[in-house]
Amino acid sequence: MPLVSMRQLLDEAAKGGYGVGAFNVNNMEQIQSIMEAARETKSPVIIQASRGARAYSQDRFLYHLMIAATEIYPEIPTVLHLDHGNSVETCKSAIEMGFTSVMMDGSLMPDGKTPSSFEYNVDATRQVVEMAHAKGVTVEGEIGCLGGIEDGHGAGLDGLSHLTDPDQAVEFVKQTGLDALAIAIGTSHGAYKFTSKPTGETLKMERLIEIHKRLPNTHLVMHGSSSVPKDLQDIINQYGGKLKPTWGVPVEEIQLGIKNGVRKINVDTDNRLAITGAIRKVFMEKPEEFDPRSYLKPAREAMKKVVALRMTQFGQAGHAGDYTPISLEEMADRYAAVAQ
Ligand SMILES: [Zn+2]
Repeated sequence: MPLVSMRQLLDEAAKGGYGVGAFNVNNMEQIQSIMEAARETKSPVIIQASRGARAYSQDRFLYHLMIAATEIYPEIPTVLHLDHGNSVETCKSAIEMGFTSVMMDGSLMPDGKTPSSFEYNVDATRQVVEMAHAKGVTVEGEIGCLGGIEDGHGAGLDGLSHLTDPDQAVEFVKQTGLDALAIAIGTSHGAYKFTSKPTGETLKMERLIEIHKRLPNTHLVMHGSSSVPKDLQDIINQYGGKLKPTWGVPVEEIQLGIKNGVRKINVDTDNRLAITGAIRKVFMEKPEEFDPRSYLKPAREAMKKVVALRMTQFGQAGHAGDYTPISLEEMADRYAAVAQ
């Protein structure tokens, strides 16, 4: 089956009351890890690439790897999503490349660092919605700003300084017509999200619940939602790494989010940790090895395990065969019919 729109996956997830992990990739091994985990758990998948990933992989390599994924795993509904598009132009180039979903992050200016105005965000996001929906492509927007910096993207704020305002969120959805909304509730990109296990003071789940009450039909997205488990940190440090102690978003908090309208959960750091831990282990235990496959295979296996676990925890496992994918053309017709 060809790549499918994200809107359909999220609509199905809402009907079934589950969430769908969105995993970041830069290379073949990461795509293979995710697809193997999806097959093993029978999960629909969202694979996402940031601007940094598109630059790293030269875009077309990534796109063709994704096409290979759809050929090798035809039973898995697979979305290719642009993570944190910084401008209308970036989203346009992704759509032209064949991405079936894009994020227009107008919460920051095109420099990817400076928090923007509400008006700028509405204007940029609405432009992307018009362009994307005409092609049946899904749009995620963001209101409020996340903490941290990842791949050069982010204002470097702490997670609490630009939380999503529920009134603004309602207005933003109304004015843009987007499909999915990323909200800021205290999470940050990268490994260093919280300095201790998060509490209601640092991770504002009640804010998320309030936003869902006001926008019951909008698919919510949690960014910066790696759990940064201690066992993955420990493997890295055991084999010569020097990670500082850190806490991520506990899986039970994500599951609470899923009960309250969260349909897409972004996970990157956990997979990075798994890969790096596995590679470090081989390097320490078998210093005579120099065939890249000797460490990339265990790395791929380690990431697959994390992804399969998250797919089960988010509830998407078992749902790959629930529905027949709708073509992008059909999605475009549906958007056009609603707009009239
Ligand atoms: Zn993000």
